[in-house]
Amino acid sequence: MQKTFNESALKSFTKQINDILEFQHEDREQTFISYMINHINNLIFVVDKDNHFVYVNDTVIHKYGYTKDQLLTMSIGDLDINFNEQQHEIPLIEVLKQKQKLEFHSIHKGANGKLYPVFIRAHYVEYEGEAYNFGAVEDESYIQKLLDAQDGFVILSDGVKLVMANQHVLDFFAYKEFIPFIHQHNCICDFFIEETGFIHNHNTWIKDVLDSPHNDAKVKMKNIQTNQNHIFLVRAKSFDETRYVVTFTDITELENYKKKLEIQAITDEMTSLYNRRYFNKILPREINRAKREEKKLVFMMLDVDFFKQYNDTYGHINGDETLIKVAKAIQQHFNRGSDFCFRLGGEEFGVVFAYESLESILSQAEQLRKNIEELHIEHEKNSVSPYVTISIGMAIVEGTTLSEALYNFADQQLYQAKNSGRNRVSFYMQDS
Ligand code: GH3
Ligand code: MG
Ligand code: MG
Repeated sequence: MQKTFNESALKSFTKQINDILEFQHEDREQTFISYMINHINNLIFVVDKDNHFVYVNDTVIHKYGYTKDQLLTMSIGDLDINFNEQQHEIPLIEVLKQKQKLEFHSIHKGANGKLYPVFIRAHYVEYEGEAYNFGAVEDESYIQKLLDAQDGFVILSDGVKLVMANQHVLDFFAYKEFIPFIHQHNCICDFFIEETGFIHNHNTWIKDVLDSPHNDAKVKMKNIQTNQNHIFLVRAKSFDETRYVVTFTDITELENYKKKLEIQAITDEMTSLYNRRYFNKILPREINRAKREEKKLVFMMLDVDFFKQYNDTYGHINGDETLIKVAKAIQQHFNRGSDFCFRLGGEEFGVVFAYESLESILSQAEQLRKNIEELHIEHEKNSVSPYVTISIGMAIVEGTTLSEALYNFADQQLYQAKNSGRNRVSFYMQDS
């Protein structure tokens, strides 16, 4: 049988009330306290050991829109949407009995479904031999203002646990309601798409963000509605001892634009191969890689035969089209992730790739030479074939070679190929 817990019972707990409400003077008269309890902004409640409300002040009634009678038939879990999770195995009253006092943040849900961020101070009290949880709730509705912000906004407590998310976040993940969202997803990192360069460690991500120079990082997440990946700038701040606020700003467009510019900067506009600038960067990098992996590296230079005459015969526009076709043939032939194809300038191309065996490399070079001739692009001024052909100079070197030396070796071989008749492959292999 539930005990009634009337206001005169409250008067037995002057000390706790003073403490909870942080009244300045501990010796407040009991009548004053009784008056205050119903005229302050704090929500005061008492729940029994089964978590049922046995007392609520008028502020609770006004705030949450339930009648006093309704509230006295409800339990904490009906108001506090995090309650069931916080409960663990030990009943709240037992935890309180041990600790005497608990303070925590949570979310309450009013009669009209509205959510209220709250800060709760709970005290253990005994009255006529029964244990009670005597608590006061501080309104934290100012947080609501943050939740109305333009960006995605979440509040995390106890490390990464999601306790609040604004409408932008719900929309992005196609949730209509906040409660199922935070109940189904303990951590917002559930949504992060793992990728190098983006934060991806689920256990430490918030710490990683906080430890970063600008307290930010980038994450990629999928918009459930559109199925598109978006990139977010994540900024995190400690809100108080137990909570973090995290904002998510959608920077997908900016990032895409940046990527486009980066690609543009390393691409030859006409042929879409990498450009000379990128070649200058990649060649020393690949030489270093070869050195680390103790492998040889191959650099191949390709030059179209009698191309000046081609232009003179067929015009510059046809010349351009031919260069595009030749570039495409090179790209198709060297299409592994470790192959790099460049337009070095004019009608001169370069390919950098890893050495496997001399036999394989010579056969690849020969195959490419043949592929280009077999494009059957008419070239009547080519004295070695009725079609457009290329000459190839190739150098195979150790990772200890300098870029300039490697370039010169290949260039000399190209000269050699030209001199010895064109439409052929000439190579140099460094002694190991
Ligand atoms: P070789 O067999 O010795 O390589 O003879 P070549 O005529 O190809 O050599 P050369 O270096 O004398 O001439 C290269 C020509 O390539 C000169 C230029 O008209 C042409 N060329 C360079 N860049 C372009 C381009 O972007 N478009 C077109 N259509 N022609 C270009
Ligand atoms: Mg040429
Ligand atoms: Mg040339």
